[in-house]
Amino acid sequence: MRDCRTTVIDGKRVVGDERVYRKEWCGQIRGMLHVTVLRSGSSGNCSLVEFGETRILVDAGLSAKRIAELLTEVGVSPASLTGILVTHEHDDHASGLGVWSARHGTPVYANVLTAEAILFNAKREVRIPFRMFQTGAPFDLGGVEVRSFSIPHDAAEPVGFVLSAGESAVGFLTDLGYATGLVRQRAREVDTLVIESNHDERLLLNDVKRPWSVRQRISSRHGHLSNDAASEVLAELAGGRLKRAVLGHLSRDLNTPEIALRTARERLGRESGGERIELMCAGSDCRTERMRVA
Ligand SMILES: [Zn+2]
Ligand SMILES: [Zn+2]
Repeated sequence: MRDCRTTVIDGKRVVGDERVYRKEWCGQIRGMLHVTVLRSGSSGNCSLVEFGETRILVDAGLSAKRIAELLTEVGVSPASLTGILVTHEHDDHASGLGVWSARHGTPVYANVLTAEAILFNAKREVRIPFRMFQTGAPFDLGGVEVRSFSIPHDAAEPVGFVLSAGESAVGFLTDLGYATGLVRQRAREVDTLVIESNHDERLLLNDVKRPWSVRQRISSRHGHLSNDAASEVLAELAGGRLKRAVLGHLSRDLNTPEIALRTARERLGRESGGERIELMCAGSDCRTERMRVA
């Protein structure tokens, strides 16, 4: 067995009691879940989850060229991807799939209705190497357990994901009109949660640029989660397993990172244990740091 008294984990040299490190660290040397939100917002969504040599994209809502650039920026070769998980067929989650598939042939995991909708929406003939999953049926992807669950949104069969390996789990919860009982249950099972915090309800109410029908769609039960609604979900999770929440899919003109974070902090501040949840925003023009999920 490898001597773990002195080892390097995440660039840090760790020296200590052999028995402790055998128990606490050996499993982690094989790989830990890391997540990087490369982009998030109505102009495109794409996140990278890493576990050892396994590299999974959650959504591909940017051009294939841009996704390749962003992966290269974080030191990941586009050819090394294990798979791409797709939440739903909207362009800001799936627009890069056709060209990406032609260039790299990465397996794409989606449920049947989402896959059909992506092919139906394609502007030209595309060949996407789909691997179909049934919503709710867990499957393994390179040692990562992938669980999907239904979310309410105006798409064919939209899902959220929980990705877990060992004792750690990360959740993806965009886009959804409201948090169902199932959504709240899944959110309780993760250490890090990427959650939609789309708009400020007051800014949406006073918006004069969008027609009433569009505003109605955004705020409907199949639209997008507001700052207040996301904060309510997080408040429920305070004191539980959740360590970190990444607020994502922020509207460009109906929200700002400051408003989204302030709303969540104020709400969490009123809940016991809320201070233990680290809060941050994902952006449409910048990526988050590479975060260890533990
Ligand atoms: Zn979206
Ligand atoms: Zn959508």
